[in-house]
Amino acid sequence: MPELPEVETSKRDLELFFSGAPVSGIKFHEKRIRVGDPSPDLPGPGWLGAGIDRHGKTLIMGFSRPETHISPGENAPARPILFLLSRFGMSGSWRRIDSRANPPHSHLEIRFSDRNSRLVWVDPRRFGRIELARDPRTAHLLSQVGPDALAISPEELGALLSCTSRPLRAALMDQRLLAGIGNIYMAEVLFAARLSPFRKSSSLIPSEVRALWTSLQAVLQAAIAEGGSTIHSFSREDGRAGGYQRLHLVYGREGLPCAGCGLPVQRTTLEARSLYYCFSCQPGVRTDSRRMPSEDFLDGERPDADRIDSVPQSAHDRKGNKDARSFPFSDTSRRDPVAR
Ligand SMILES: [Zn+2]
Repeated sequence: MPELPEVETSKRDLELFFSGAPVSGIKFHEKRIRVGDPSPDLPGPGWLGAGIDRHGKTLIMGFSRPETHISPGENAPARPILFLLSRFGMSGSWRRIDSRANPPHSHLEIRFSDRNSRLVWVDPRRFGRIELARDPRTAHLLSQVGPDALAISPEELGALLSCTSRPLRAALMDQRLLAGIGNIYMAEVLFAARLSPFRKSSSLIPSEVRALWTSLQAVLQAAIAEGGSTIHSFSREDGRAGGYQRLHLVYGREGLPCAGCGLPVQRTTLEARSLYYCFSCQPGVRTDSRRMPSEDFLDGERPDADRIDSVPQSAHDRKGNKDARSFPFSDTSRRDPVAR
């Protein structure tokens, strides 16, 4: 499943191609993948690609319509006024296609009047979702997600974890707490931090929170530098695979010697998902051998709000104001990709 590094890889791969490109049309081949407000019309002639951003596992493409909202003589690039959000689900990806035929499982395409290729949303398992929104801050796909895992401060991470007694493995993957982490990077980050996946989140002491935050940033940045991980289906816009799966230290390495101690990496199955860890390097008593239904949910599919005791406002927003959360495109001081 694409996680933060894979979505960030897509963003970086597509940005130059997309930004400033004149749109000729957007066509859904599978309308059921669209969620949220059905009223925004699809961008067509007169619209431009106006930058790409990301929050957690959601990619956000901005579209502008220069002739309708720039005063005559104004030189500034038009700000995006419509956004296409894509949540990658299990197997979604954006592909740049030059040939006449779309690849199998193509559900949506964006065509451009001055480009030979088009952007096609490919999703064999169809768990991905697309939303058109006039403001990403109020979009359905981002309505229940916490701060971005790359943008969070150590203090915010500590505040998030202190409010849940769930094990670390479940808390890290809960998109309402922290956006961007799934099964692969949860395992890699906890191994790098030498923390047991079974540790109660609220039991971490400050030095452990700091180690976890440092590992979180380091693992995500290293994975982005490698173009993400390709396990089953993730591919980059040109069809290439990511490279970080070669550098995994525990994920997918059951029985192989641990890079830290040489003992075999363990794998166990919880909630139909594989959990990889080293019981020697990540010491901690397994406290959740009893099945805990709905303990972690899949990318927003199975929310279980009652499992969070209370999320302090500070966990969602440094200013304590949920509406002012730092979302992509919401900061007017950001560089406009069109201007680059
Ligand atoms: Zn070990």
